[in-house]
Amino acid sequence: MSFIRTVLGDIAPETLGVCYAHEHIIIDPGHMTERFPEFLIDSVDLAAEELARFRQDGGSAMIDSMPTGGRNAGKLAEVSRRTGVHIVSPTGLHLQKYYPADHWSGSKSVVCLADYFMREITFAINDAENGAVRKPANEAANASPGPSPRAGLIKIASGLNRLSEQEKHVFAAAAAAHRNTGCPILTHTEQGTAALEQIKLLALLGVDLRHVVLSHTDRKPDLSYHREILRTGVRVEFDSAFRWKEVNPTRDLVLALAPEFPSQIMLGMDAARRTYWRSYGGSPGLSFLLTDFRRQLLEGGLREELWERIMVANPAEAFAFAG
Ligand SMILES: [Zn+2]
Repeated sequence: MSFIRTVLGDIAPETLGVCYAHEHIIIDPGHMTERFPEFLIDSVDLAAEELARFRQDGGSAMIDSMPTGGRNAGKLAEVSRRTGVHIVSPTGLHLQKYYPADHWSGSKSVVCLADYFMREITFAINDAENGAVRKPANEAANASPGPSPRAGLIKIASGLNRLSEQEKHVFAAAAAAHRNTGCPILTHTEQGTAALEQIKLLALLGVDLRHVVLSHTDRKPDLSYHREILRTGVRVEFDSAFRWKEVNPTRDLVLALAPEFPSQIMLGMDAARRTYWRSYGGSPGLSFLLTDFRRQLLEGGLREELWERIMVANPAEAFAFAG
């Protein structure tokens, strides 16, 4: 039986409901927020307020995409308990620039990184950070799964235009953890670039591309590029719908591609700044896709059935563990 691993436990994919595929519900203080203070989103109360509104507007689930270095799975679990919104939290690693220069991840072998990812998927997310070096492997292996949140996703990232050697290293570790656990993979692309290189590498490493989601590719809103990506069978997540000003290339991409690739497109907001959240006094708020963007797409001719696939069926399939 396939399942989706949320911070409150495993659920049947068909119970996921309307899902945002790339969010930032909590980003705790640390190296990242010291460098980028606007990324600080650490309040459980304000997250619960925003997600309660999301739920009222028809939302049911969110994929949090913050791996170690700002992640707080305990807080995510509390937000989920308070609001009833399903939340998935990732293991994995973000771009190197989000970690201190001497971060442990830079000096670990592929095997060691894969082992760290697998422990967070199988046993528990290490909210104390630095898990890969602090916890002896035998201690983690003997621990019972218990109530601690487990990772339901592996987040990996590449920079502009090409993958660095270190990024390839992390991709190899993620692929190994995926092959061993079936855990789905969510990638960050920088401005939508290097998508084809990411796909080629993951396919070569034996990853099931139906459980790979490439994020932010709509920041490179080129139709033929997207057709090339989607023909591989991988899935994509668009999250710039609320960022464009006059024209909306994200809307145009969805309208053009959803009928052709109905099971491969998903939406999110990647709203990793407090200025985007209503509960922090910003706008447009996390209900934007369910209210404004849904209306824009339906007015543009998207069939209701395709909206349902994008928001419900596609995330349920993509974020389920591979068999
Ligand atoms: Zn993100």
